[in-house]
Amino acid sequence: MTAHSYSLNPIGHIATPFQQKFAIPRQSALTRARGCITLSEAVADPRVFKGIEDYSHLWLLFIFHETLSRGWKPAVKAPRLGGNDTMGVFASRSTHRPNGIGMSVVKNEGWHQQDDQLQLLVSGVDLLDGTPIIDIKPYLAYADAVADAEDKLDSYAPLPERSVRFHDEASLTADTLSQQHPDFRALLCRVLQQDPRPAYRQKLATDPKVYKVVLYHNDISWRVTDGTVEVLSIDPLSE
Ligand code: SAM
Repeated sequence: MTAHSYSLNPIGHIATPFQQKFAIPRQSALTRARGCITLSEAVADPRVFKGIEDYSHLWLLFIFHETLSRGWKPAVKAPRLGGNDTMGVFASRSTHRPNGIGMSVVKNEGWHQQDDQLQLLVSGVDLLDGTPIIDIKPYLAYADAVADAEDKLDSYAPLPERSVRFHDEASLTADTLSQQHPDFRALLCRVLQQDPRPAYRQKLATDPKVYKVVLYHNDISWRVTDGTVEVLSIDPLSE
């Protein structure tokens, strides 16, 4: 058989609250983070969205553009196995894949036209800000939801669910930021509840190390004390 190569052009780019890979939840269903896809000029024809309102959920296909240059590995470390054991790349949802393509189910929040731009709003995204989108398809529950699907890892590697506490100053800043981003506090809590520390540190109920996550262009410092995530400070990133 002749080997062909195929090139793809993004059909748009998505804006999300995640300016950094670290701490982005591992799957889309774990966040309710909002995203806005702006279609590329070549496909920005309102007819592309005709009937899309009939679907509550959509598949996004995208490029793991941030990690593409690092290539792929046949076996990848699986965070759900504690970070040391590996699984085959095709038995994982790792970003380091031969073709660097990701897929996420997201909620359809509607589309609109603004000046010359066509934008689709979605929620429940696990994508980095600026990720190139290569396709959008309706999620078809009758075909895509498999009632008896098995995920054997899920039973022995449940996701952590820590409580989150804000220090006074950080709490005030979160309130202020919520005026601009109404989901700021709730999103930050969901991100931190899952304890985004590396697997080997998640065992530490008290960890002196201060970690940082970036959300909506804010640098957030946090640490884990007695099993609770403490939000220490929230500082805007300088442009
Ligand atoms: N739901 C998708 C899938 O299954 O293909 C993504 C799963 S992948 C395990 C989720 C991780 O991808 C996130 O935690 C984030 O760190 C990473 N990620 C998101 N957008 C990315 C991008 N544009 N480039 C590289 N990594 C990205």
